[in-house]
Amino acid sequence: MKGTILFGMNNIFNVKPLDGEETLECRIKGKILKDSIGAYNPLAPGDLVEYEADDHHPGKGMILSREERKNYFSRWNKKRKAPQTLAANLDLLICVASPELPPFRPRFIDRALISGERGGVPVMILMNKTDQGIDDQVRDRLDNYRDLGFEVMFCSAKSREGIEELENRIRDHQVAFVGQSGVGKSTLLNLIEPQVNQRTAEISTKYSRGKHTTCYSILVENTAGGTIIDTPGVRELLLYDIEELELQEYFPEMEAYFGQCSFNSCSHIHEPGCAVLSALEKGRIHPDRYESYLRIMEELKNG
Ligand code: GDP
Ligand code: ZN
Repeated sequence: MKGTILFGMNNIFNVKPLDGEETLECRIKGKILKDSIGAYNPLAPGDLVEYEADDHHPGKGMILSREERKNYFSRWNKKRKAPQTLAANLDLLICVASPELPPFRPRFIDRALISGERGGVPVMILMNKTDQGIDDQVRDRLDNYRDLGFEVMFCSAKSREGIEELENRIRDHQVAFVGQSGVGKSTLLNLIEPQVNQRTAEISTKYSRGKHTTCYSILVENTAGGTIIDTPGVRELLLYDIEELELQEYFPEMEAYFGQCSFNSCSHIHEPGCAVLSALEKGRIHPDRYESYLRIMEELKNG
C-alpha cells in the first residue's frame, strides 16, 4: 500500500494512505531500508512510501520503502552534524520575508534559492507585511531577484492584500513554507489553512509534552486543494554538498561571465583578470549578491 508522509519524529512516521483518510503511525521496517536512505531523517513530509498495515494493531504499520524523490528541500543540521530534509516532492518552496521587524534579510533568501535549486525545487520569494511599506533599498533587492528570473509575490497577512493571489498560486500544488522567525509565516498559514497551526499544536502536545515543536516539518492538506508543508522556524539555512567551484553555478548573474576569466578554475574572489570581479565593479552584479557568494564560499570552505 502507498501513502504520503505527513510528519515524522523519533523514527515514528505519520502516513496518510493515498486511497484513505485514516492516518497510520508507522516505523521503518528493517535496518537495511534505514541505512540505504540515511539513518537520520530518512523520510520527510511529502515523501511517498510503500507500507504495510499491522493486522494486530489498528492504526499502526511498517514502512517498507520510499519512492524516489522528485525533489527535496534540505539543510545542514548543525546540532546533528547531518543533512535534514525538511520537505520532499514539492511544486514550490515559498520563502517568506518581511521588509522590517524583522529586517529584510537577503542572505537567508539567497540560501533558500540555492538550497531549492540544489534539491531541484522552484522557489518563490513572498514578501509579507507590505502594510509596513517597502523602502527603496528593499525594493531594489526584490527587483534584482525578479531580473534574475526568480518569482516574487507580495502580501500582507494584516491587511490581507495579496492573500487571494497567494491562495490561487498554491491551490492544487504541494508547497512548503520556510522563513526566519517573525516574518509572519504562522499568521499567513493561519489565514490560508488554519489546520496547519492546529495540527502543529496537536503534535506539540502529543510528542513534546506541551513544548512547542519547532524542529520538524508537517504536511497538512489544503482545504482549497493541494497540500501545505510548514517547515520549522530555522534561524539560518546552512548549505552542504556543494563544491566550492560549483557555487557560482547557483548565481545566474555570474553565468554570463563563465569562461571569460583569465584562470580556468577562477573562484572570482581575488584572481587577476576575473570577469566576474570586473562585472561587479561595473555594477552588473549586485554587490549584495556577491557578498552572499563570498559568505557562502567561506562556509563551504570551513565545512
Ligand atoms: P513567524 O515567526 O514567521 O511564524 O511569525 P508570526 O506569524 O508569529 O508573526 C510575527 C509577528 O508579525 C506577529 O506579531 C504578527 O502579528 C506580525 N505579522 C504577521 N503578518 C503581518 C503583516 O502582514 N503585517 C504586520 N504589520 N505584521 C504582521
Ligand atoms: Zn573569475
